[in-house]
Amino acid sequence: MFRFSVLIACFLVQYSSILMAQSAAKKFTLVIHGGAGVITRANLSSEREQEYHRALDSALRIGYAILEQGGTSMNAVEKVVNYLEDNPLFNAGIGAVYTADGTHELDAAIMDGKTLAAGAVAAVKRIKNPISLARLVMEKSEHVMLIGEGAEKFAQTQNITLVPNTLFDTPARKRALERIQQEEREQATKDSIKQDSIRKANLKKRSASDKHGTVGAVALDIHGNLAAATSTGGMTNKRFGRVGDAPIIGAGTYANNGSCAVSATGWGEYFIRTVVAHDVAALVEYKGLSVQSAGQEVINKVGKLGGDGGMIILDTKGNFSMPFNSEGMYRGVITQENKPTTAIFK
Ligand code: ASP
Repeated sequence: MFRFSVLIACFLVQYSSILMAQSAAKKFTLVIHGGAGVITRANLSSEREQEYHRALDSALRIGYAILEQGGTSMNAVEKVVNYLEDNPLFNAGIGAVYTADGTHELDAAIMDGKTLAAGAVAAVKRIKNPISLARLVMEKSEHVMLIGEGAEKFAQTQNITLVPNTLFDTPARKRALERIQQEEREQATKDSIKQDSIRKANLKKRSASDKHGTVGAVALDIHGNLAAATSTGGMTNKRFGRVGDAPIIGAGTYANNGSCAVSATGWGEYFIRTVVAHDVAALVEYKGLSVQSAGQEVINKVGKLGGDGGMIILDTKGNFSMPFNSEGMYRGVITQENKPTTAIFK
């Protein structure tokens, strides 16, 4: 009898440790954003708000399906960003903002936290899903970043069909461009007698309310690997040829299993100057800060310079944070527990 109970006890111990190992191995997390700064409570109707929640929720479920099956964090962030690029609600792919000369120029980057391999494209005009081209740059070229025409020529060698730039048109973004250009014309007349500093202050006000947007994802897969991806149309009324932070490795996008994965959104010039994504990773790696403290410290730095926006950060333990200094940031999280949560305001 005694031997029998010992046997049963051994069996139970072993069985529960197998179960524990399985559930530990199944741990994964996906964090996404759909841009910061476009939105104030006042200018977002409740129907529109629901549309955003639904879209973020769908994006999370796409990533969940991949990660749950044991798929890689690289595949998850790419596919999630593909969905957001195709969704006209967000400023990336279809629904991208307009440049000052009425076209769209798209930037994107992806990074693998396991190998530190990275790929990026900037100012591409005829690529439906820039994040997938960024991944091809990483995997199929000897370079990290390709821009404009060169990136598009490379795309053709990878059997990617070029699309007309008008594919990215949406009436809402067109109206935003017209509004900003009209304001700028009015301002220019007034500014002819004002100083430069006042003009800059006006530009800042506009930036917060009208110009931003980007999509991004960071993921941790069951193999313990991190990845980050960011894709954007940039900022409304940008000069053609302007490149933001999203495709700059270390500014808008970064991933390293030794620290964390980061995808940023906001006024790109400030995020480049403060090298946001790598700064966060460096604080985590060298100073041992949590993703919360590191993110807060860096977003404060951006704010002090005059920039606004936010970011999503995730480490290999599944700790994440989503700091932002704008009124809102479209964002969401899902883990192996399959409880998607989405949020827009603070
Ligand atoms: N960071 C993007 C850019 O400057 C825009 C944004 O995220 O709002 O291009």
